[in-house]
Amino acid sequence: MEEEYKRVWNECLGVIKDALGPENRRAFETWFVPIVPLQLDGATLIVQVPSQFFYEYLEEHYIDLLKRVIKMQLGVSGMLKYSVVMDQSIRTSPIVTTLPSQGRQSVRNPLTEMPVNLNKENARELPNPFIVPGIQKMRVNSQLSPNYTLENFVEGDCNRLARSAGYAVAEKPGTTSFNPLLLYSGVGLGKTHLANAIGLKTKELHPDKTVLYVTSEQFMQQYAEAGRAGTVGDFIHFYEMINVLIVDDIQFWAGKAQKTQEAFFHIFNHLHQRNCQIIITSDKAPGDLQGLEPRLLSRLKWGLGADLQAPDVETRKKILRQKLQNDGIEMGDDVVEYIAYNINTNVRELEGALISLIAQSSLNRKQITLDLTRQMIDKYVQSSAREITIDYIQKVVCDYLSLPVESIQNTSRKREIVQARQLSMYFAKKITKSSLAVIGMQCGNKDHATVLHACKTIENLRQTDRHMRNMVDELEKKFKE
Ligand code: ADP
Ligand code: MG
Repeated sequence: MEEEYKRVWNECLGVIKDALGPENRRAFETWFVPIVPLQLDGATLIVQVPSQFFYEYLEEHYIDLLKRVIKMQLGVSGMLKYSVVMDQSIRTSPIVTTLPSQGRQSVRNPLTEMPVNLNKENARELPNPFIVPGIQKMRVNSQLSPNYTLENFVEGDCNRLARSAGYAVAEKPGTTSFNPLLLYSGVGLGKTHLANAIGLKTKELHPDKTVLYVTSEQFMQQYAEAGRAGTVGDFIHFYEMINVLIVDDIQFWAGKAQKTQEAFFHIFNHLHQRNCQIIITSDKAPGDLQGLEPRLLSRLKWGLGADLQAPDVETRKKILRQKLQNDGIEMGDDVVEYIAYNINTNVRELEGALISLIAQSSLNRKQITLDLTRQMIDKYVQSSAREITIDYIQKVVCDYLSLPVESIQNTSRKREIVQARQLSMYFAKKITKSSLAVIGMQCGNKDHATVLHACKTIENLRQTDRHMRNMVDELEKKFKE
């Protein structure tokens, strides 16, 4: 028989789903499906939510609906309590809130009350897999995250090659010339996401293949443990049975882990000979991976090295929009643009900024306006050394002149557009470290002489023309803001 608390929560879910209607199906899936009922204590239902932010979002947006539903199911004295999970390894925090009797109970500084989970690393550890040698077909927990899919890995010029190589590998693991496939980039640019996505896609297309994702650190630890337990043979045997092996962040082994690297070298050769796929990520290009075993390094160069670049502003906007859509959150275009133009370091920071913004707004119960975004993002950017880009300069100049930013790129010789282009070149020269050639290329595909000419023209006008002086001064202020 199904436990009572589950039944009650299922009833609630049914009512909530109806109340939200099909047009809010995504919101229902985002915010209600992940809730897990835990217990029914008299007329109090205790449910588990995945994060503090999650709980606040529910309270902010769905409190009335929840009150109504709880009342319907459990009567007027009905209550709902939340238990907040800190991360994958199910830990519950003592934070609870009660409703509806006391109304909304605001949590004082909730962040400080969260227990810190020191065992985070262990959350993904293999359940000691190599105690089953000799079994032909074994079920291996692939350790892939279901969220990092190829479908939600936004494509842009910055990652096109790597992404399509990834797709090719998933279609024909082990038999393309991309074996091994080496993905490299700076931090936060999508290596882990893409490697994981290739794993998921492979499993989808080839359910019979055994896929395994490990971090290089995990691999190293497992090897060390196997050494202590005298089971290195089992360890190697286990890895040699994998069809698609993904090792994340191999640069971690550089300059250390020599024995680990040797073990991996053997596994690599074995897998490669049997046309099994190997996917490696690294935050350095193969040429810069000093401290890695030369034999291993030369193996890595056998296949394809594909780098991931920082996304351009259009890709950043796409990534933000996708993220919002997945989370069922609405935000104005001006806000999305502001974030995309201002956070240009990497995707992790882009996401971080977005989450902080959403969290901020849900904490203070404020609408996400452009003003709030400005305050928040500027603080965010200050702490991570803001860099003004040519894209951003063009945007500010065009906004100021009420022109669409695309006009910089077209061939128009209209006075106002020529001026916008010249101003962009002038500020790009002044503020960024880019060369004249690069500035010209990004400002309508002009050569360096045109840029030089533009800088001189603006400088002269600034001396002689009051209107131009005002304009340059005001724009300058905007860049310093
Ligand atoms: P890396 O491993 O290179 O440090 P990650 O794969 O962890 O970077 O990416 C950081 C974050 O950015 C992840 O949340 C990831 O989902 C996201 N991300 C990176 N690139 C993209 C992309 N092209 N589309 C969507 N999300 C991305
Ligand atoms: Mg990573």
